[in-house]
Amino acid sequence: MKVSALLGLLPGAALASDVLNVAFYAKERSQLFDFISANSEIDYGCRPVVMAADGEHKLHAIISEEHLHHFKRSLDPELVRVELLHSINKRQESTAPIGKGDRFKGGRIAPRGFGSRKPSEYAELQRAGVFNADEVYTAMKGLERKYGMRLFTTPYKTFEGNKIIGGVANKAQKVRKDKQYIYLTSGIHARERGGPDNLIYFISDLLYANKHRKGLTYGNKKYTNSQVKKVLGAGIVFIPMLNPDGVRHDQANSNLWRKNRNPASAIAGDPLSVGVDLNRNFDFLWNFTQKFDPSVSPASTNPSSQAFYGTAPFSEPESKDMAWVYTQYPNIHWYIDVHSAAGTLLYSWGDDNNQSHDRKQNLFNLAYDGKRGVVNDDLYNEYIDQCDWDNIRLAANRTTDAMIGVGGRQYVPQQAVGLYPTSGASDDWSFSRWHKDKRLTKVYGYTMEFGYATNFYPSPEEYVQNVLDTNAGFMEFVLSAVEIGLKG
Ligand SMILES: [Zn+2]
Repeated sequence: MKVSALLGLLPGAALASDVLNVAFYAKERSQLFDFISANSEIDYGCRPVVMAADGEHKLHAIISEEHLHHFKRSLDPELVRVELLHSINKRQESTAPIGKGDRFKGGRIAPRGFGSRKPSEYAELQRAGVFNADEVYTAMKGLERKYGMRLFTTPYKTFEGNKIIGGVANKAQKVRKDKQYIYLTSGIHARERGGPDNLIYFISDLLYANKHRKGLTYGNKKYTNSQVKKVLGAGIVFIPMLNPDGVRHDQANSNLWRKNRNPASAIAGDPLSVGVDLNRNFDFLWNFTQKFDPSVSPASTNPSSQAFYGTAPFSEPESKDMAWVYTQYPNIHWYIDVHSAAGTLLYSWGDDNNQSHDRKQNLFNLAYDGKRGVVNDDLYNEYIDQCDWDNIRLAANRTTDAMIGVGGRQYVPQQAVGLYPTSGASDDWSFSRWHKDKRLTKVYGYTMEFGYATNFYPSPEEYVQNVLDTNAGFMEFVLSAVEIGLKG
């Protein structure tokens, strides 16, 4: 039943023709595991996520028409079958528009979130569409101008020379670097539209509600003004758009661009070989060919792959910038990297199943090189302290409960490894820092996947739902953090 990957027939190669959103189904999870191992170059979104579906297991992917024909011919449907969900090209005709011009007028107008507005006003936000890359900057300037929110520019410029900017939202007037405990990032995968908007609207809501002594409402979830103050008081450092080069490229071409635009490893004549998957570039078991079992591919060494890991850990300015924030705000204890599209909240670890009984099985132990990443085996499972595991799960469950409570749709909390491992991701790297150096603050790292499976360009209605869902999730996440403990 194994089918080798068809290099050269990858989804991106088919962008000019047709791109298909499909699902693979199998009775047993292990069958999908084998399938991914044999077809690791397929575009599974941020990472392969397997969901339960009517007594079966389901795996979403984006593939070309040629690929679909190939799988229809070669897969044994008794084991793994493929179903076409829709054509992404056709669907793109009804996606939320990218904003035109500058709705924030160079920062003279500040954004205002959904939670502080009446639902009757959502239509106007929906029509205005997804923030264009320039609007991400002017929205941030607007928040600085209106509320005195501190802005910062990270030290490493992107290949195309774009600045990466962040903000610090806190109840206190004077921002102290040692009093910020929460870190949120988005826009690391360029095509995941609405990620930056979700973060900026959330911070806008907090600042507005704090100033006007109001609460916030997201669908059926309501938060009081005292909860707003509690959340803002936790100190939130955020970078809404970690990959501005990629976002500009995706918005200009609507080609589902995911990576950055660094051409260092590019192959002449292959436009897909430009760029690094920034979320495989962090120093977490980065050198996967050595660290993992040879049967799994938690990233890719192929520059044309969507999951190309770069030339070294932190070879990219964007990943270095993300990491730099921890040197500036050393007490950050809770982190979420916001992605789409799956409807999950993932928590550590992402390289193998968690276990809390054998400290020797840990990512720094060279004795286990070549053994990691095969889920549900006994050769290797990643060590996590039981108390950390409990804390991490508790916050994850509360966060997804709040997202479900909005009333729009389901979200599933799960360990990041799920069915299949990932290396070099920002959430695991964040959590691993303390494991390597106990003088650092321990960071609980998460990946939030808003939106609908592999649907990176939301419809206008989904765009609104995504803002409401994620914003309720962020509220609950920080409230949970405050209760569990802000100090690591
Ligand atoms: Zn992603």
